Amino acid sequence: MCIISPKLVEVGRHINIDLHTTTELESVRGEKGRFQVTLRRKPRYIDLEKCTACGECTQVCPVTLSNDFDQGLSPRKATFKLYPQAIPGGFMIDKRDRSPCTNACPTRSMLMPTWR
Ligand code: SF4
Repeated sequence: MCIISPKLVEVGRHINIDLHTTTELESVRGEKGRFQVTLRRKPRYIDLEKCTACGECTQVCPVTLSNDFDQGLSPRKATFKLYPQAIPGGFMIDKRDRSPCTNACPTRSMLMPTWR
Protein backbone atom coordinates (compact mmCIF):
# COMPACT_ATOMS: atom_id res chain seq x y z
CA MET A 1 0.00 0.00 0.00
CA CYS A 2 2.90 2.41 0.63
CA ILE A 3 3.67 2.25 -3.09
CA ILE A 4 0.18 2.19 -4.56
CA SER A 5 -1.63 4.54 -2.13
CA PRO A 6 0.01 7.75 -3.42
CA LYS A 7 -0.84 6.67 -6.97
CA LEU A 8 -4.46 6.00 -6.00
CA VAL A 9 -4.74 9.45 -4.46
CA GLU A 10 -3.13 11.00 -7.54
CA VAL A 11 -5.59 9.22 -9.84
CA GLY A 12 -8.52 10.13 -7.59
CA ARG A 13 -7.64 13.84 -7.82
CA HIS A 14 -6.68 13.99 -11.50
CA ILE A 15 -8.96 16.33 -13.43
CA ASN A 16 -8.86 14.21 -16.59
CA ILE A 17 -9.67 10.89 -14.92
CA ASP A 18 -13.18 9.73 -14.01
CA LEU A 19 -13.08 6.80 -11.62
CA HIS A 20 -15.63 4.07 -12.19
CA THR A 21 -15.49 1.94 -9.06
CA THR A 22 -17.76 -1.08 -8.51
CA THR A 23 -17.94 -1.21 -12.29
CA GLU A 24 -17.33 -4.04 -14.74
CA LEU A 25 -16.21 -3.62 -18.32
CA GLU A 26 -18.71 -5.39 -20.56
CA SER A 27 -17.38 -4.59 -24.01
CA VAL A 28 -15.01 -2.39 -25.97
CA ARG A 29 -15.64 -1.61 -29.63
CA GLY A 30 -14.06 0.72 -32.12
CA GLU A 31 -10.50 1.64 -32.91
CA LYS A 32 -7.69 3.83 -31.68
CA GLY A 33 -9.00 7.30 -30.84
CA ARG A 34 -12.65 6.29 -31.20
CA PHE A 35 -13.68 3.62 -28.71
CA GLN A 36 -17.15 2.81 -27.47
CA VAL A 37 -17.17 1.17 -24.05
CA THR A 38 -20.05 -0.50 -22.26
CA LEU A 39 -19.86 -0.59 -18.46
CA ARG A 40 -22.08 -2.19 -15.81
CA ARG A 41 -22.06 -0.34 -12.52
CA LYS A 42 -23.11 -1.95 -9.23
CA PRO A 43 -24.97 0.47 -6.99
CA ARG A 44 -23.26 1.58 -3.78
CA TYR A 45 -26.54 2.44 -2.03
CA ILE A 46 -24.62 5.29 -0.37
CA ASP A 47 -24.22 8.75 -1.87
CA LEU A 48 -20.49 9.37 -2.26
CA GLU A 49 -21.09 13.12 -2.41
CA LYS A 50 -22.45 13.05 1.15
CA CYS A 51 -20.54 10.18 2.78
CA THR A 52 -17.71 11.37 5.03
CA ALA A 53 -16.41 7.83 5.65
CA CYS A 54 -17.00 8.24 9.38
CA GLY A 55 -17.86 4.54 9.73
CA GLU A 56 -20.83 5.06 12.07
CA CYS A 57 -23.04 2.89 9.86
CA THR A 58 -20.62 -0.03 10.19
CA GLN A 59 -20.79 0.19 13.98
CA VAL A 60 -24.54 -0.49 13.98
CA CYS A 61 -24.84 -2.79 10.95
CA PRO A 62 -26.26 -6.16 12.13
CA VAL A 63 -25.14 -8.11 9.04
CA THR A 64 -21.71 -9.75 9.10
CA LEU A 65 -20.20 -11.11 5.90
CA SER A 66 -16.90 -12.65 4.88
CA ASN A 67 -14.28 -10.04 3.99
CA ASP A 68 -13.45 -10.71 0.33
CA PHE A 69 -10.59 -8.21 0.40
CA ASP A 70 -9.00 -10.26 3.16
CA GLN A 71 -9.59 -13.52 1.26
CA GLY A 72 -12.31 -14.38 3.76
CA LEU A 73 -9.88 -14.51 6.69
CA SER A 74 -11.83 -11.89 8.64
CA PRO A 75 -15.43 -10.74 8.89
CA ARG A 76 -16.79 -7.40 7.77
CA LYS A 77 -20.16 -5.71 7.96
CA ALA A 78 -22.54 -5.33 5.00
CA THR A 79 -21.88 -1.58 5.21
CA PHE A 80 -18.22 -1.22 4.53
CA LYS A 81 -15.26 0.34 2.80
CA LEU A 82 -13.22 -2.18 0.82
CA TYR A 83 -9.98 -1.30 2.62
CA PRO A 84 -8.84 1.66 4.72
CA GLN A 85 -7.01 3.49 1.90
CA ALA A 86 -9.68 2.87 -0.77
CA ILE A 87 -10.26 5.58 -3.36
CA PRO A 88 -12.88 6.99 -3.25
CA GLY A 89 -13.03 6.85 0.52
CA GLY A 90 -16.81 6.50 0.83
CA PHE A 91 -18.62 3.46 2.10
CA MET A 92 -21.00 1.13 0.29
CA ILE A 93 -23.63 -1.43 1.22
CA ASP A 94 -23.22 -4.99 0.05
CA LYS A 95 -26.79 -6.03 -0.61
CA ARG A 96 -27.24 -9.70 -1.28
CA ASP A 97 -30.67 -11.17 -1.64
CA ARG A 98 -32.84 -9.67 1.13
CA SER A 99 -32.22 -8.31 4.58
CA PRO A 100 -32.32 -10.87 7.46
CA CYS A 101 -35.55 -9.39 8.85
CA THR A 102 -37.18 -9.68 5.44
CA ASN A 103 -36.09 -13.30 5.15
CA ALA A 104 -37.36 -14.05 8.67
CA CYS A 105 -40.85 -12.71 8.03
CA PRO A 106 -43.14 -15.79 7.65
CA THR A 107 -45.71 -13.93 5.59
CA ARG A 108 -43.21 -12.20 3.28
CA SER A 109 -45.16 -9.03 3.94
CA MET A 110 -42.08 -6.85 3.77
CA LEU A 111 -41.84 -5.47 0.29
CA MET A 112 -38.65 -4.49 -1.43
CA PRO A 113 -38.23 -0.71 -1.37
CA THR A 114 -39.51 1.21 -4.32
CA TRP A 115 -37.45 4.04 -5.75
CA ARG A 116 -39.12 7.40 -5.81
S1 SF4 B 1 -19.53 6.19 6.61
FE1 SF4 B 1 -21.66 5.53 6.87
S2 SF4 B 1 -22.45 6.76 8.59
FE2 SF4 B 1 -20.56 7.76 7.88
S3 SF4 B 1 -21.26 9.32 6.38
FE3 SF4 B 1 -20.76 7.45 5.21
S4 SF4 B 1 -22.72 6.34 5.05
FE4 SF4 B 1 -22.98 7.88 6.68
